[in-house]
Amino acid sequence: MRIHLNHLNMIYPTGKQALKDISLMLESPSLIGLVGPNGAGKSTLMKLLVAGLLPTGGEITVDGVPLPKYEKTLKGKLGYLPQDFGLYDELTIWEFLDYMAALKGIRDSGKAIERAIAATGLEEKKKARIRTLSGGQRQRVGIAQALLGEPEFLIFDEPTVGLDPEERIRFRNFFSQTAQDKLVLLSTHIIEDVQSVCDRLIVIDRGKILFTGRPEELILRARGHVGVLLEQAGDGKESALHIISRVNTAEGVLCRGVAEVLPQEARSVEPTLEDAYLYLITQEGKTQ
Ligand code: ADP
Repeated sequence: MRIHLNHLNMIYPTGKQALKDISLMLESPSLIGLVGPNGAGKSTLMKLLVAGLLPTGGEITVDGVPLPKYEKTLKGKLGYLPQDFGLYDELTIWEFLDYMAALKGIRDSGKAIERAIAATGLEEKKKARIRTLSGGQRQRVGIAQALLGEPEFLIFDEPTVGLDPEERIRFRNFFSQTAQDKLVLLSTHIIEDVQSVCDRLIVIDRGKILFTGRPEELILRARGHVGVLLEQAGDGKESALHIISRVNTAEGVLCRGVAEVLPQEARSVEPTLEDAYLYLITQEGKTQ
């Protein structure tokens, strides 16, 4: 599957321009992380991809066919977990998935439900009512419904929100396994979610794409722009850095931060993906 976004623009009826001239190619198999601060335009982009919204400019084509013409076919190939996904508390997991399978028009739904339940590790809970589940289990039910019918294209909007660290790790492993033969788009504002699993990153802020490429390429860009220095009371040297973290050490408070030009007192360190992401966002912020 090959999805082409061609000069997409989205202006809401309020006049808010949520996306500005977005051009991208998404191809399977891959696990793509869509990262950006809250309000960057991630959900809007995902809603356009599932044809839940129509762009005010530009077009999306799927395997060369314009999305409005392809919409019916795409529905059968698409699994979507929206950010504000509602579950029916009084249904059991099985009943809920059965209902979702009927909405998707899936034949032989029993097998499809079993597969989705197995893939999300919910076998022991399938007869439990949804209201009795933990946050992580509820999120797994949301993912299970997206997996119904073995879709080729999966979109997960902030799937790790509200999960504890252990569950987040579980989910990351799950995503990298799922993406082996599919196109998976994973939106998040938590950079650790994409760090080890995504083969491609799209960084978006204020409706514009700031970066698209491999995570290592983003890290390379930040080399020489990430440093640490000891905060000396009152000298204000750390103000030359955009501070990412402060750690108490025996020598004093060690500040880690990014800057276009590191202050002389700072020791340059190897960037993490989070440093590189923050460097990109802060640099763009200055030019706007
Ligand atoms: P993200 O998912 O990255 O948090 P969104 O796509 O939800 O970002 O929002 C992008 C921008 O568009 C924000 O400024 C948001 O307030 C605005 N926005 C989102 N939905 C609507 C809407 N239905 N009407 C007007 N503005 C909207």
